Amino acid sequence: MTCYYPSALLRTLRNRIPIGNLIVQVLKLETYNRGGWLRFRCPCCGSLHTATNPTTNLARCFECRKNFNPIDMVMAAGKCSFVEAVEHLKRHYLAR
Ligand SMILES: [Zn+2]
Repeated sequence: MTCYYPSALLRTLRNRIPIGNLIVQVLKLETYNRGGWLRFRCPCCGSLHTATNPTTNLARCFECRKNFNPIDMVMAAGKCSFVEAVEHLKRHYLAR
């Protein structure tokens, strides 16, 4: 697939959108807190055996062993394409 987005934009979306905020506020996935970590229902396998890491800004499912950055998470939760996920994130976080 040809990617026509500037890499700086993709970096911003991956790194500057807090993964926890995205899961709770935008995607509205089922979540809970345990051990100080925000956990969520995995959009791929439905497991709650998950964690988010604010340091790496990644979400991880221990059941299906997927790592999600914000773009991956939108794609998985919304069952949408990469381009749709990028547009979704731009609308929510970069719109003025
Ligand atoms: Zn999973």
